[in-house]
Amino acid sequence: MKKFIKFFMKNRILVAILLLLALSSWSTVALASANAVVVQSDSVNVRVGPGLAYANMGQVKKGDKLAILAEKNKWYQVRLSGDKIGWIASWLIDNTDVSSATNKVGIVKVPNTTVFKNADASSNVLGTIEQSQKVTIMYQEQDWTQILYNGTAGWVKSNFIQGTQETSGSSNSSDTTSDDDIKKVTVTQPNTKLRIEPDQSGRVVKTVKVGKQFDYLSKDGKWYKVRDSDGSVGYVASWVVTISGTKSAVKSASTNISEATIVLDPGHGGDDSGAESNKSTYEKNFTLAYAKAIKQQLEQTGARVVMTRSGDNSKSLGDRARLSSKIQADAFISLHFDSSAQADAGSGVTTYYYNKNKDGELADDLNSQLKGLSIGSRGTAQKDLYVLHYNSQPSVLIELGYINSKADYKYINSNTYKEQIAKDVTNGLKEYFK
Ligand SMILES: [Zn+2]
Repeated sequence: MKKFIKFFMKNRILVAILLLLALSSWSTVALASANAVVVQSDSVNVRVGPGLAYANMGQVKKGDKLAILAEKNKWYQVRLSGDKIGWIASWLIDNTDVSSATNKVGIVKVPNTTVFKNADASSNVLGTIEQSQKVTIMYQEQDWTQILYNGTAGWVKSNFIQGTQETSGSSNSSDTTSDDDIKKVTVTQPNTKLRIEPDQSGRVVKTVKVGKQFDYLSKDGKWYKVRDSDGSVGYVASWVVTISGTKSAVKSASTNISEATIVLDPGHGGDDSGAESNKSTYEKNFTLAYAKAIKQQLEQTGARVVMTRSGDNSKSLGDRARLSSKIQADAFISLHFDSSAQADAGSGVTTYYYNKNKDGELADDLNSQLKGLSIGSRGTAQKDLYVLHYNSQPSVLIELGYINSKADYKYINSNTYKEQIAKDVTNGLKEYFK
């Protein structure tokens, strides 16, 4: 050891140069192959934290390249030019080329290598990786390497990983899809899971290898619904695949609403039918149809819309309010239809809030749009309703007319009224997020 130290002291410049060379050749490769996305919207705001509520620190523009460092609540933490770090709404850069196909593969050199949440040994431990296992490298700093771990980003000590010449993507030679009706989703990460639901806790249908292709069916948040050649259908995470022929419209994303996460809560569902009309139709079906119409119009602004239910299933009031808190919704809107004790005794649209400070402005902005409807407005009112009371986020409950009133029902049961509601709610939210 002494000898080594002596050698080191004598030749420290040489050692330093060798060390630097080793490090730099390694990290330039890794840097060049960081998990980059290219912005294709005209412009997207960059914020200091993962949400619309955080201050805007600038904008990225079409063609800008960003390295993804982490993901939280559907926001990407990105490294910008000049090594600044900020957050952008992931759904606004979805129509971009995620060049994961160029990610470098590393091999774990040390048994039970710890994966940390941040580039810091005192941060949370995400898990461990066995020796000799291959990992996808997303980014590298001198001491720390960011890898893809169970679908998210994790950090390991750089000297625990050996670089290889391999990349994790499939070869691009077959990527010549032209105008095929069916888009192909190609897996770029080892052990990719096809899940029954668009969620990391969804049951696994099957595990597939790099290069595996599926038919693209639809998109659900950051997940793709896909079909395998054997007919099985499931969801894969968009960050572990590349998609061919993505030509969805480029959104202009400079308005605030495009960065908003909005929860729509169609009242009732399943065993709970809600109020009944004079025609024996039920509130639960109308609330769902209206939520879907609103979702469609809202999404055209670029906003991310999450529904508390999208089918005829029951959902507790607690679950509805908790979803809003869990995903830090920027607005929560519960949809209902009123009914009076006796048929044809009530009429009107009411926007309820619970906490004036938290919900008042949202209620006012929506109500000012809903004033011009065919069904008259009863304005806003304070009421202690469960989904508002136990909701940490700005929230309102709108009664969209009396379902057991002949006069109101005529409108409630019409497409024109439904589309007008969708338009008014969208405009109200645009105003709210201004
Ligand atoms: Zn109701």
